[in-house]
Amino acid sequence: MAPEEAAPSILDYRPRSTLVAPTHLVKKARYPAIDFHGHPQGMLGSVESLARLGADLDALNVRMMIVANNVSGDALKRTVATINASPAMKDRVRVLTGINFQNVGPGWAERAVAQLEADVAAGAVGIGEIPKDFGQTIRKANGSRLALDDPELDPIWQAAARLKLPVFIHTGDPQEFYKPVDNNNERWLELFPGRRVSPDRHPNFDELMKERDNLFRRNPKTTFVAAHMGWHANDLGRLGKMLTEMPNVYVDVGAVLYDIGRQPRGSHDFFVKFQDRILFGKDAYQPEEYPYYWRVFETNDDYFDYYRGYHAFWKLYGIGLPDDVLKKVYYENALKITPRLPQTGWPR
Ligand SMILES: [Zn+2]
Repeated sequence: MAPEEAAPSILDYRPRSTLVAPTHLVKKARYPAIDFHGHPQGMLGSVESLARLGADLDALNVRMMIVANNVSGDALKRTVATINASPAMKDRVRVLTGINFQNVGPGWAERAVAQLEADVAAGAVGIGEIPKDFGQTIRKANGSRLALDDPELDPIWQAAARLKLPVFIHTGDPQEFYKPVDNNNERWLELFPGRRVSPDRHPNFDELMKERDNLFRRNPKTTFVAAHMGWHANDLGRLGKMLTEMPNVYVDVGAVLYDIGRQPRGSHDFFVKFQDRILFGKDAYQPEEYPYYWRVFETNDDYFDYYRGYHAFWKLYGIGLPDDVLKKVYYENALKITPRLPQTGWPR
């Protein structure tokens, strides 16, 4: 049996929910937040644009943004100089540095560590966001694929530990991106051209994650932050196992709110259990999207829309985190793993 009308396409079917339930919109985070996964494109170029960024962040109660734009050398120095010239923002924006993974081979580690030390002297507070081409398309000097756990990279991870720099790393894509785009793929709406990863390509999802975990394991003194909850927010059991096995690993929540918010009981318990290991981060800079995070974290609201239809066609639920967990996720964990951040003036 089917309705008389022709079925709408999946793109057009947007049913109005008739559910009437308590609604608590949260414009501002309950505690001042650090956005550990900042990409404020176009707003770092001048004192004036930084002031606009400051006004946006004030409206959200984001006190500090960590710029994860993977920049090094002169570009990093220019950004830091602009931040320092801004009376309003000089204590509110900090920058991560990038590592140049091209041509790893003899002499690479010495050069990379020297550049890292120079970037720290210029003001960098951590490393990242190491982009997803690392492990996938970057080649070594000898032409082979640069694996995430290549031992030739160890000196840079050891330098990060010595300099107390967290390493923020994005590995691969969500697992459904590696699967056929068919009627069973729950990320169908997002798999527009160029988004899907060919299943024939290596490393595939599991191979990449295995290499990533080897990298984390072989450098236990280095603090790593796996971006996007390591793409395991859809499998919190797996992520929990990883965090339990590897005490040097943290995660940020950027752009995976659709997975956190669809399992409110599981997410609540996970955030409580791993409250010392999760950092707030937003990824794409869209000020109007942050309140969806506050609402998921702070309320117990039922069945509300996500902000981006192509990530998720399903609804979100609040996970009602307690205040002490919110504080850790919003700012305390970022301050703890990033000692070069301004440490004063935060609620304790
Ligand atoms: Zn990012």
